[in-house]
Amino acid sequence: MDIKNVFQAKDVPEAINLLDQYGEAAKVIAGGTDIIIALRENHVKVSVLVDISSIKELKEIKTSDDWVEMGAAVTFTEVMDYFKGHKEYSGLIEAASLVGSPQIRNAATIGGNICNASPAADFVPPLLALDAVLTVEGKEGKREVRLEDFLLDKGRVDLNKGELLTTIKFIRLRKGQTVTFSKLGLRKALAISRLSTAVYLEIDDDEKCAEVRVASGSIGKHGLRERVAEESLKGKNLDKAAIDEASKVLSNEVEKRLAGRSSCEFKKDAVEGIFLKAVEKAMVHNGDGSYCAMGTQYYPRAAGKE
Ligand SMILES: Cc1cc2nc3c(=O)[nH]c(=O)nc-3n(C[C@H](O)[C@H](O)[C@H](O)COP(=O)(O)OP(=O)(O)OC[C@H]3O[C@@H](n4cnc5c(N)ncnc54)[C@H](O)[C@@H]3O)c2cc1C
Repeated sequence: MDIKNVFQAKDVPEAINLLDQYGEAAKVIAGGTDIIIALRENHVKVSVLVDISSIKELKEIKTSDDWVEMGAAVTFTEVMDYFKGHKEYSGLIEAASLVGSPQIRNAATIGGNICNASPAADFVPPLLALDAVLTVEGKEGKREVRLEDFLLDKGRVDLNKGELLTTIKFIRLRKGQTVTFSKLGLRKALAISRLSTAVYLEIDDDEKCAEVRVASGSIGKHGLRERVAEESLKGKNLDKAAIDEASKVLSNEVEKRLAGRSSCEFKKDAVEGIFLKAVEKAMVHNGDGSYCAMGTQYYPRAAGKE
């Protein structure tokens, strides 16, 4: 590690100026939980770090009528605190709470998790399921990019030199809409995700699946939308047969994707289980073998069925 300067940026323009000034020699540091290891192991070679961890505007979470917007330097502990008690966002709470240890969650940021672009990044699948949109800022100005398009390859994101990820936003969830997350790790604590699934579910007034988005972690070069599983559920009554069918479809897709890899056998079976868990978390059981989405219990018609 050959760091000559660490600058504590006080706002976004200052961080962007520093990144522009030092060019290839500089990198952003937020919580430092990934980059310090990368620097120590010589996977990253820079001499200047631009610390964004005290930029106030990057540490805020705001909910407006239509959107939820989170600053890139928000930590996992802050995510857990903000969404506490909001069942519809249980996927964000759970993904955040399963990252590393309390010490890691106090430092590690959501922007760092995205920009590090690990296939196992826990916060990426629920954000993909929410179809999150990122704001990236640099000398040339601001641009918005969907998270799905931002992830280019393992360890590579759509970020030009001198650009900073500033916010992550998604459409505010309403009744009948929910996002959930399920993870299979090696050990309970400090486990980097071996496999994860996030599900966004929306039920219409006829109790059919109006919208569903499924995303996975650790079964591709980065977090991925699982569109075949989505297509299998869309428009259907969410009974056990439909959900089981979608889990089989997902398993077949994983088998095709990982063909020839030693992890294929394990992952194609395991993904069925964690997908079912993520879907079930989004539902309440009607007692007759059928389900309705968690949020729909607030609708009078569905409430009568409980
Ligand atoms: C013991 C341990 C356990 C862990 N467990 C988990 C786990 O269970 N699940 C999991 O997902 N991760 C885990 N991690 C990985 C890590 O904690 C997360 O990926 C974390 O979210 C990274 O955030 P950070 O703020 O520390 O990023 P940093 O280390 O500060 O930065 C990571 C990368 O992103 C870039 N970057 C950061 N912020 C921005 C920004 N706003 N704009 C542009 N570039 C930016 C940096 O330049 C760097 O390249 C673990 C790490 C450790 C050390």
